[in-house]
Amino acid sequence: MPELPEVETIVRGLKRTILNKTIDLIYLNSPKINKGNFEGWLDILHGKSFRDVNRRGKNILIESSSGYTLWVHLKMTGHLYYVPKNNAIDKHDLMVFYLQNDDYSLRFNDYRRFGNIRLLKSDESRQQKGLATLGPEPLEISRNDFIKLFQTTKRMIKPALLDQTFLAGLGNIYADESLFLAGIHPRRLTNTISEKKLIELYGIIQNILKKAISKMGTSVDSFAGVDGKPGGYQTYLKAYGREGEPCWRCGAKIKREKIGSRSAHYCPRCQKLR
Ligand SMILES: [Zn+2]
Repeated sequence: MPELPEVETIVRGLKRTILNKTIDLIYLNSPKINKGNFEGWLDILHGKSFRDVNRRGKNILIESSSGYTLWVHLKMTGHLYYVPKNNAIDKHDLMVFYLQNDDYSLRFNDYRRFGNIRLLKSDESRQQKGLATLGPEPLEISRNDFIKLFQTTKRMIKPALLDQTFLAGLGNIYADESLFLAGIHPRRLTNTISEKKLIELYGIIQNILKKAISKMGTSVDSFAGVDGKPGGYQTYLKAYGREGEPCWRCGAKIKREKIGSRSAHYCPRCQKLR
């Protein structure tokens, strides 16, 4: 699933490609895509331009000049592609936005169809369920607030990091990588971690996310940017997806274990549960 760096890569790609372009036509290839409320979209969006593109956690918010915002969640295999408008429509191109005076179109493509696009009134978007409940942004939260977040709750750290209402944007890849580099066992209880260690984790999470953004994300599955190109951070992964391979620090075999409902990858020697 695309996480913060992948979604940020898409948002930056959209800023480069569709910003200030005017919507001409919208083609809907799948009536299920937006939970059946497509009616009226073209009336609202035709002749209007894309005014801003922002990310909140793993959500993409594309604001239009109509006073409405497109809210996109890519879930497992959703993609936003900016492709020549004459390219044949793929059966997984669920929605296509044709733009005025542009030889390209914006396509929402999703072969597993868990992703979604919704249309919200821009001034109500921040109050939407699913957006209003999001936790702080890991690249924006202050160090003190980050420490407080962990000290004031008692739960296993790995599921906490995946919980979007706790911290918004991390998924399995970057949570596993962060805990590996910090040497924290994924089952460790949040309130038992020393302040010194939390400060270290804060820096590690920010560094990993920034580096992954600079590499245009991680492509271990189908992730690609709006230009269709994969990211490059997968070559830097040290724990995620490396089950049975030697830890680069100590040589022990990386373990994969189900914690909560997700599998965690960690080094049993470097990430001891004290
Ligand atoms: Zn190790």
